[in-house]
Parts: sequence; C-alpha cells; structure tokens
Amino acid sequence: MENQAHIEVRLLDYAQSPLEKLYTAFRTCYSSDSPIEIWEKIEAKKIDHNRIREFIGERLKTGHASPLEQVVFWFGIANVSRSLSHQFVRHRIGISFEQQSQRYVKFKKDKLAFVMPQSWKRAGLENDFDELLTKTSDLYTKALAAGIPAEDARFVLPNAAPTNFHVMVNFAEMLHICDLRLCVRAQWEIRKMVALMRAEIKRVLPEIAIFLQPKCGENRMGYCDESLADWEKCPLGKVRPHKSSLFELYEKHGTRKAKALSETEFRAVEEKEQL
Ligand SMILES: Cc1cc2nc3c(=O)[nH]c(=O)nc-3n(C[C@H](O)[C@H](O)[C@H](O)COP(=O)(O)OP(=O)(O)OC[C@H]3O[C@@H](n4cnc5c(N)ncnc54)[C@H](O)[C@@H]3O)c2cc1C
Repeated sequence: MENQAHIEVRLLDYAQSPLEKLYTAFRTCYSSDSPIEIWEKIEAKKIDHNRIREFIGERLKTGHASPLEQVVFWFGIANVSRSLSHQFVRHRIGISFEQQSQRYVKFKKDKLAFVMPQSWKRAGLENDFDELLTKTSDLYTKALAAGIPAEDARFVLPNAAPTNFHVMVNFAEMLHICDLRLCVRAQWEIRKMVALMRAEIKRVLPEIAIFLQPKCGENRMGYCDESLADWEKCPLGKVRPHKSSLFELYEKHGTRKAKALSETEFRAVEEKEQL
C-alpha cells in the first residue's frame, strides 16, 4: 500500500546536564550547601558521576518527585494517527504540545497517507481499508478544489489521518506517561510511540531511561494494579506480580495482619505527635 504513514519519533533536544541538575535539585533539599556550592563541587569533579547516579537512583525510590520536573525533553513525532493524538493530548501536566493543524495545512493527495492497524491486515481487510481511504482522499482533494476551506474539508478525514507533534515534556510527566502507556492495557499505537520515546532517551541518557517503565516495572510501582483478568491476559504478568498476590503473601506470611482503617487510626494521627 502506498498511502501508509510510518511513525517517526526523534528526541530533538534535552536540557543540558540533566543528571547534574537532578542531583543539585535533590541535594539542595538535604544539604547545608547552597545549590551554587553544590553545582561548583560538581564542576570541580569533587562529586563523581557514579555518586550522582547512585544518589538519584535512591531518590527515585521515594515519593520526592518534584525535582524530576526540572529535567526537560523535546521530541519531534511524525505520522501518528489522529486516533493517537486524541489520547496523547489528554496528558495535561508537565507536557506542552504543538500539533499539525488540519485548518492551516491543506494535505496534498500524495502527502495524505493513513495509519493502518495490523489487525486489518490480519483480518484480510487491508484492501477494503485502502479502498475506502483512497476514496476519502479523493473526496478531500475534490472538496479543496471546489473551494471548501481546509477546516471544513477535513470533516471527511478519519481517525487514521496522520498528524505531527513538537512536544516538550519533563521527566516527571514522562515517567507518568510511561507508567500508563507502556502498560499492555494502553492502545498499541500510543504504546509504540511511547516505547520509541523511551528508546530515544535511552540512546543518550541510559541512567534516566532505566526508570521509564510501565507502572508494574521493578523501578516503578513494582506490581500490577489493573484488574486480575487484565493481568492474566498480559504477557508482562509472567514476570511482574499482581497486587492481589502481594496481599495474599502479606496475609499468609506477614508478621502483622492487614485490616481496614478505622477512626482509631485517624484519631492517632489527629491527636498524637509521635505515632
Ligand atoms: C488504558 C487507558 C484507558 C483509557 N481510557 C479512557 C476512556 O475510555 N475515556 C477517557 O475519557 N479517557 C481514557 N483514558 C485517558 C485517561 O483517563 C487520562 O485522561 C489520560 O491517561 C491522561 O492522564 P492523566 O489524567 O494522569 O493526566 P496527566 O496530565 O498525565 O497527569 C499527570 C498527573 O497529574 C495529576 N493531575 C492532572 N490533572 C489533575 C487535576 N486536575 N487534579 C488533580 N490531579 C491532577 C494526575 O493524576 C497525574 O498524576 C485512558 C487512559 C489509559 C492509559
């Protein structure tokens, strides 16, 4: 098929010295040194790369996440479907998008490729898909030629129509996006795009990329919090535990037993300084 769009993801740039920035941001909270002194120690190589990496690794195991917002990536993303873009732009914190317009861009027929899921091929309906989208393309081109503005001609374009993004995203949000979108529950195209974003970061910053995992990954939450039925279907379920098995283990082998929280526990927090 000639009219197929092929996804492209490129890390265009990232804020300079991300590990050093993360280290200084975290350290500022825990050190009597000022951030200027910490930065000068890094520049003078009094704090070596391994120390920086280990310290960041330890911090990432905690809930102290705001320093992660100080590391920023820029991506160029091309030829993803409008079906993907609708999901992608639902992320609203720590991410900034510019998306190719269907109002200002009049697609030339040879530029109007479409994203076709493999499932159409597997179902043997590839040609039907192609036929309909070729007709759509023809009608779109006819509409433009008849003077219908691009913002109205686009009404015939399907979810399969391609689009492009320029995206700025910080590390904290990138972790969150990977938590959700590398999970097998996410839709295949956005999962693929996020996997490619991760691969791009890994190419230049492997120390940071190891934390970019689905939420069940050993460097993230560590277990699956989706439904048991979804976990049973998931290929990662072979290597990552479901939350129910953790509760069962706790019940079986824990030295204490879990019980529902009552007002007694809340009163302890309300009334006592030392718990
Ligand atoms: C598998 C899957 C299926 C989905 N299915 C549907 C669906 O059927 N229908 C649908 O409409 N959407 C669906 N979504 C989209 C989903 O509901 C979210 O809109 C999307 O994942 C964006 O994530 P986020 O809300 O965490 O936003 P982000 O901007 O990525 O959030 C970042 C963080 O900030 C917090 N945050 C953001 N805004 C606020 C706020 N106003 N108040 C408090 N905290 C905030 C979030 O909790 C999160 O921790 C689906 C997503 C996934 C991954």
